[in-house]
Amino acid sequence: MNHARVATECPKCGGKEFGKGKHSGYAAMYPSRMSFGSDVEYIICTKCGFIIESYVTKPEKFKGTL
Ligand SMILES: [Zn+2]
Repeated sequence: MNHARVATECPKCGGKEFGKGKHSGYAAMYPSRMSFGSDVEYIICTKCGFIIESYVTKPEKFKGTL
């Protein structure tokens, strides 16, 4: 069984072409108790703009913040 999460089709428009976006600096998502953040990356349908996936690049920074 393949557990890799690779988007193959946009659930919204059925498009099959995706791009990768990134937020950093002021747009970064920050752990609530830390002064440094982690970039947020997006997998985006280049046809309709739907965000297929979004995730932070350094999830370990969020450990223990809840
Ligand atoms: Zn789409």
